[in-house]
Amino acid sequence: MKYLPLALDLAEQDVLVVGAGDVAQRKISWLLKAGAAVSVVAPDASMQLNDHRIRIHNRPYTESDLEQRHLVVVATNNAELNVKIGQRARALGYLVNVVDLPAASNFIFPAIVERGDFTIAISSAGNAPVLTRYWRRTIDALVPARLQSWADLLGRYRDTVKSKLGTIDSRRRFWESVIDSDIAEEAYRDSNKAKQRLDKALDAFAFDHTHQQGAVYLIGAGPGDPELMTFKAVRLLQRAEVILYDRLVAPEIVNMGRRDAEYIYVGKRAKDHTLPQHKINELMLKLALDGKIVARLKGGDPFIFGRGAEELEHIIDANIPFEIVPGITAASGCASYAGIPLTHRDHAHSVRFVAGHLKDGYADLAWSSFADSRQTLVFYMGLMGLNTICRELIKVGRDESTPVALVERGTTPNQQVYVGTLTTICDVLSKHNVKAPTLIIIGSVVSLHSALAWRGISITE
Ligand code: SAH
Repeated sequence: MKYLPLALDLAEQDVLVVGAGDVAQRKISWLLKAGAAVSVVAPDASMQLNDHRIRIHNRPYTESDLEQRHLVVVATNNAELNVKIGQRARALGYLVNVVDLPAASNFIFPAIVERGDFTIAISSAGNAPVLTRYWRRTIDALVPARLQSWADLLGRYRDTVKSKLGTIDSRRRFWESVIDSDIAEEAYRDSNKAKQRLDKALDAFAFDHTHQQGAVYLIGAGPGDPELMTFKAVRLLQRAEVILYDRLVAPEIVNMGRRDAEYIYVGKRAKDHTLPQHKINELMLKLALDGKIVARLKGGDPFIFGRGAEELEHIIDANIPFEIVPGITAASGCASYAGIPLTHRDHAHSVRFVAGHLKDGYADLAWSSFADSRQTLVFYMGLMGLNTICRELIKVGRDESTPVALVERGTTPNQQVYVGTLTTICDVLSKHNVKAPTLIIIGSVVSLHSALAWRGISITE
C-alpha cells in the first residue's frame, strides 16, 4: 500500500490553493465541506465558488503565500511552477498535493463517497483513475442516500447502549442485530420513530440472554480462489469473533474476517501438526463455552477429508449452536480450473474422492475397487504416495497409458498443472519441484484438458 488513507480534521484550518481552474475548484469544494478556511491565489481567480470562507487573492503566487498554512494544494496550469511550489511547501513541512502529480505531492485526494460525516475513500495511488471512478460509482450506488441520518442516530445512541449493556461483546452484538435491520430504513424516513424502535430493541436485547451464547461455524473456504467462497461462508466469517484457520486457507480469505476478530493459526501440515487435533477440538469448545462466536475455516469442504465431523462432536455434545457451511472441494475447484471435467458421457460415469496419504509407506486402500476404467479417481493428500498409487492401479488392471494430472495450488494464481500417464507421471514429479497442496486426477477425462484449456491454463507434460 503506497498511500494510507487518513481522515483529516480541517475545521478552521488555513489551506492554500494555488490556481483556480476546474480542478482547483473541485478540490476547494471538498476543502470547504470539511470546514477549512481556504485562501486561493491566482491571477485570474474568477471564482464561481461564493463562500465567505474563501479568501481570493487575484495575483500571481509569491513565496510568502506559503506562510502559516496547514495544507497546500497546487493546481495552476504551469507544470513547472506547480513542481516548484510543491517542493517548497514540502521543504516547509506542509501537507501538499500537486494535482495530477503524485510524485511531487505527499498526499493525494482519494475519490470520495460522501453521506455527510459518513465517508468512504477510494484510491489507486493515482495509478488508475478510471478504475477508481468505476468503484466510486459502484459503491456510491450501494450506499443509501440518507445513510447520514442513521449514522447520526447511532452516534447519539452510543451512550444509551453503553449504560444498558455491560460488555463490549454484547454491545457489538446489539449493534450488529440492528445495523442492517428495518430500523435503518425507518431512520432514512423518520429518525424520531427510529429512535423509539431502537429503545424497544435495546430493552428486548438486554432482557434476552441468549445473545451471550457462543456459537461455532464450520466454514468451507474452498480451494484457494477467494471468489469461490459462498455468500453464507463470507457472511458467517464476518460475524465471527474468533477465527481458527489453517495452512490450506488462503490469506485473502482469512482477511475477510473482521479486523477486530481474534485470529488463531492452528495450521496443519503432513508430519507437522502445529496443534494436535484434540487440542483444536478443545480450544474450539472452550471459546464457544466462553460465549465467543467462533469460525473454524477449513480449506475446501469441511466434510471432505476435513475432519469436520470430529471437530463438531464436542460442540454438539455441549449443546452449542453451530452451522456447517459447505465449500467447493479441491476436486471440483482444481478440475474446473485445469479444464478437466470429472465426469463425461464418453469417458467417466463416476468419480471417486480418495484419501491418498500413506500409512507406513503404503496406502491401505481397496485397490481392486479402482479397476473400472470409466471411473475418474481423485486422490487428495497423495503426492508422497504417487508411486504406490500408480503401481497399484496398474496391478489391478488400469491401462498404463491412463492419463494423470497433478494440480498444484489449484485455483490460485500459482496454479500449475502437470500431466503424464500412470507410467510417466512419477518422472514428471521428480523433474519438477511439485509441492503441496497438490491434487491427483486419474482417468481418461484428463485427456480433455487441452480441448478445454480455454483460458491459457499452463500445463506441463
Ligand atoms: N477439505 C479439503 C481437503 C483437505 S485434505 C477439500 O475439500 O478440498 C488436503 C488435500 O486437499 C491436499 O493434500 C491436496 O491434495 C488437496 N487440496 C486442497 N486444496 C488444494 C489446492 N488448492 N490445490 C490442489 N490440491 C488441493
